[in-house]
Amino acid sequence: MRRYPLYIFDLDGTLYRGESVLPYAVETVSTLKSQGSLIRYLTNNSGQTRQFFLERLLRMGYPAELNEILSTATGAAIHLESIGAERTFVVGEPGLVQTLRTEGLSVVNAQPDGTVQPDGGESDSVVVGICRSFTYELMRGAMQRIRQGQPFVATNTDSSYPLEGGTLIPGAGSIVAGIRTCSETEPFVVGKPNPFLVELILVETGVPASEALVVGDRVDTDLLCGELAGCPTHLVLTGVTEVPPVGQAFSQDLRGLIEDSL
Ligand SMILES: [Mg+2]
Repeated sequence: MRRYPLYIFDLDGTLYRGESVLPYAVETVSTLKSQGSLIRYLTNNSGQTRQFFLERLLRMGYPAELNEILSTATGAAIHLESIGAERTFVVGEPGLVQTLRTEGLSVVNAQPDGTVQPDGGESDSVVVGICRSFTYELMRGAMQRIRQGQPFVATNTDSSYPLEGGTLIPGAGSIVAGIRTCSETEPFVVGKPNPFLVELILVETGVPASEALVVGDRVDTDLLCGELAGCPTHLVLTGVTEVPPVGQAFSQDLRGLIEDSL
């Protein structure tokens, strides 16, 4: 298979599942990087910091560096900065709050440990992500601010999230849907399938879209996102997709990316 100057990898279901590394994934990423390709790690997960993903990837043996990792929490901070927001109301988890703070934003409804509460000071924007402590009161806080005209930013709209072993839990999209309903407002969605984050990576690396391969396990998020950004895409069958769509480039596992040199 041809080599690309840039590979953008999804994490869950592509490089690992829970705490388990997927077969041939570390070897493939290491080979591509050692041969000079740029690597970026792109996750829709907003509940953790980049440092958390870095430590997990390094523990698993990936040759990862902090600047190669982009999550929807980081993307939300970049979007908020671009619209001039400074004080945001968050429906999310401590990893999202910590990421926004690291990027210089103030979170009006979070305690020092990053736990969010329904009330807080004046805000100029609302960010919604996965929030396993979600309550009606948090929904009310977000709704009232959005109805006042504050920008509504969603980290992602994933309906569910797979745990190790295959059990599904509600994803950020289920919380976003509730707030979208009561505020009667459409959010700006940071995560896949919106191509926002892939486009940021293309600008940052200077690689043209046609030279960047987007690799993932979900057709409706990872691959659609790549397509919308104008990138070629590659599906791996190590995650949620069992049957590849007709015409889609795919392989059973990541070995397919370096196959003909084995
Ligand atoms: Mg995935």
